[in-house]
This record gives sequence, C-alpha cells and structure tokens, in this order.
Amino acid sequence: MNDPNTIVAISTPPGEGGIGVVRLSGPESIAIGRKVFHCTPPLGSRIRFVEYGRVMVDGRAIDEGLAWVLAAPRSYTGEDTVEISSHGSLQILEQLVQAALAKGAVLAQPGEFTRRAFLNGRLDLLQAEAVVDLIQAGGKGSLDNAYGHLQGRLSALVRQHKSCIIEALSLIEVGLDFAEEDIDETSRQSVLNLLDQVINSTRHLVDTFEGCRLRQDGALVVLVGRPNVGKSTLLNAFLGEERAIVTPLPGTTRDLIEGRAHWGGEIVRLIDSAGIRTSQDLIEKEGIRRAIETIETADFVLAVLDASDNWHKDDELVLQLLEYKPAILLLNKTDLPRRLNIPIAFSSTHPVVDISALTGLGLPQVQQFVTANMPSPSLVNGLGITRQRHRDCLQRVIESSTMAREMLLSQQLDECIVAELQEGLVAFGDILGENVADDVLDRIFSDFCIGK
Ligand code: GDP
Repeated sequence: MNDPNTIVAISTPPGEGGIGVVRLSGPESIAIGRKVFHCTPPLGSRIRFVEYGRVMVDGRAIDEGLAWVLAAPRSYTGEDTVEISSHGSLQILEQLVQAALAKGAVLAQPGEFTRRAFLNGRLDLLQAEAVVDLIQAGGKGSLDNAYGHLQGRLSALVRQHKSCIIEALSLIEVGLDFAEEDIDETSRQSVLNLLDQVINSTRHLVDTFEGCRLRQDGALVVLVGRPNVGKSTLLNAFLGEERAIVTPLPGTTRDLIEGRAHWGGEIVRLIDSAGIRTSQDLIEKEGIRRAIETIETADFVLAVLDASDNWHKDDELVLQLLEYKPAILLLNKTDLPRRLNIPIAFSSTHPVVDISALTGLGLPQVQQFVTANMPSPSLVNGLGITRQRHRDCLQRVIESSTMAREMLLSQQLDECIVAELQEGLVAFGDILGENVADDVLDRIFSDFCIGK
C-alpha cells in the first residue's frame, strides 16, 4: 500500500554540533536523491552503503555530507528511503528540502514517515505512538517505558490477552456448532479462567495510566507563598536561569511562570505563582485566583515562608490552602537572622526544610524529598500505558469481558456471550490499530513533528 508521493522533510534538525538529516521516502526517493546529492557511484547504486558527496541546490554544491539508501521494504517507512546528513545549518537543510521539492517531492505532513511505517505494517499503532513518547519522554522512567512500547513489548502483552479472548470464543463456538447443546462444564470453567486472566491483567495495565502519564509529562510542582518570600528567586535557582523577575517589591509575579527541570532522573514542571495575599488590585487578584487553582491541580506544593520575617496573616492564608495536598514548608532566607516562629498548628502538618534560594542551601534536599514522595506507577512487566486512547480501549475490554463472565455464570445464551467477547476483540484490535479510521490516525499523528 505504498503511497505514490515521495515525501521530504528535515528529519533531525542540526544540534549544537551541526549534523542534521533530511529524509526522503517514497518511490522516487532515489531518483530525487540523485539530483540533490552527487556522489560516486551515484546514490542508489549501493544499498545500505554510506556515500560521501555534495549537496546540490540549483546546480551548485552548497555543502558536503553523507547519504544512504534503504530500499523497500527494509526501511523505517517500508518504502525506498534516502537520508542525507550534511554539516547542516538549518538554512542548508531547508535549501536541500526546497531542492527536493523542486525535483518532485512533496513536503511531509507531521508524523507522515511514521504513519507510512504503520500503514506499511512496519509498526503497529502502539509502536507508532511510542515514537512520539520516546521523543517527548520527560525522564529515564518514561524513556524506558516508551522504548518498551517501540520494541513491541506492550503490543505483545495486548496480543497475548487478545489470544485469550480468541480461545474463549473458540471454546464457546464449538458448543454452538452442536445446536442443542450448551457449553460443557469443563469448557465453561476454562472460559471463566481465561476471562479472569484478561480482566485482572488488563485492569492492572489500566491502573498504570495515571502514574505513567505523570512521569511522561512531568509532575506539577507549584511554588506558593505570600509576596516577597523568595518564590521567584527559588524558581530561578532550581532552573539555573533567570526565568522569573525578582524584585524587592511585593506583587511582581502576577501570572504563572513555568519551567522544566530534571530531578532524580525525572522531569518536574515547576510553576511560580503570584504571591497570595488579600489584595484589592484587580490584576493581582486574578493572579491569586490562578495560583489557588494551580494548587488544586498540583502534584506537589512547595510552600515558601520567609524565615527572616515574622509570621504573617497571609502566611496563614497560604498554609490553609494546603490541606490534603502533598506539600512541604520551605523556610527561605535562612542566610539571614531568623525571626519566624510558625504557630504549632501549622508547623506539624507538613515537613519543614530550611533553605536559602540565594545561597542554594537546602535545595538538593528539597529535590530529593519531592522525588522520593512522587507516586511511582506500579508497572506490568515493566510497562505502563500513557495515553487516554489506550485506557479507553482497555476499559472496553474489561467491560465486555466482565459482562461475558456474568452472562456465563447466569447461564445466558451462548450467542450473547459470543457477541460480548467479539466486542472485546474489536477493542483489542483498536488499541493495536487494526482497521483504524483515518480521523483517528489524523488525531494521533498530529502530535508528531514534521520529519518523524
Ligand atoms: P517572591 O515575590 O516570593 O517571588 O520573591 P522574590 O523572589 O521576588 O524575592 C523577594 C526578595 O527577597 C528579593 O529581593 C530577593 O533577592 C530576596 N530573596 C529571595 N530569596 C532570598 C534568600 O534566600 N536570602 C536572602 N537574603 N534574600 C532572598
């Protein structure tokens, strides 16, 4: 089912050290590749060879580099593919893409290379989605998980459960062939066992969703506190850059400022919120409303207090928002003489850590504490699901298998049980991308970048 168009895009933009890659895929890849890359012997004379040559734009060489041809079906997309890597400033790579377009290629859509790989049976849908997860993985845990999906380990697990349903179906259908007879007792017990196995294992997989999603996106860690306690200074210290504006004037952070950091090999999304206090200023009030809203969605809250100042009624306002939230109290500015006395009612509700955003004192302990207290997903064979789509499909499997199980126990018609089991098979097929509709594919691949 090869597409007649040959697509082109920058597959890997040049990094710090140069080297970017332009990828062509489709029936004309080699012919177009030959026009934009001159080497000896001409490109495509040797398959899976790296050739050294010149990048040609409008009949003149603009750079030198390497190119290789992978012939269908043994390429990423399953089509003839040419990849050209040059010294590659973005400008050179863009000129190379333009030259390929002028020779008849069309610009690839987001994720089109992977979509073709899927359509040509090189990857199933779970593996195709894993490409995005691998690129966007926040930390080590989500990288391992995404790579496990790409290797086909999640697909293998899904197929294993799918074969249990097929076996259950065949046991019931044997009974259906003998028109008057119901399923015999041994087969009934076997079907029940198979369904229990599918239901339990699928449920366990569904339970991995929240934790894996959190790890993939990064945990949301929110900095809260009354104005001027040092939240912005702390955000900047954690990010190692001047992201938030720091001033001695209270009320300067009026919106949410977000940055990403790696703590203990995992990603965290740090948010600096507006200082919380009773305010009449309209903009500041809106900032405070957003800060309160963010606390509700936070996975972890860092409540900042000024250790060099007296206890303040606005501190109380802040700490009252932390009820039932995983949080720690950070006593900031401990490089200055201490004046703060936290009322006992508040000091005992959450752990307290002494820090100085200015000198960096105590910050590693904060990172350790947060990462140690993050929920970690309990995986199934080292794997978990990260997408709502997976969860929805697996949920459908659980529902239909549970329904089939109940029908079997209440001696309902075998035909009805068969219909339920077939629902489960369809859901398993959907998660793997069998007979998937174009609009579902459009939605999935729109998450990809161009060139992947
Ligand atoms: P925010 O309003 O809570 O975001 O507070 P800022 O980060 O803007 O800081 C308010 C003031 O406190 C600034 O003048 C900072 O330089 C100062 N500050 C912040 N953290 C520390 C600290 O750990 N020690 C000292 N001595 N000053 C700090």
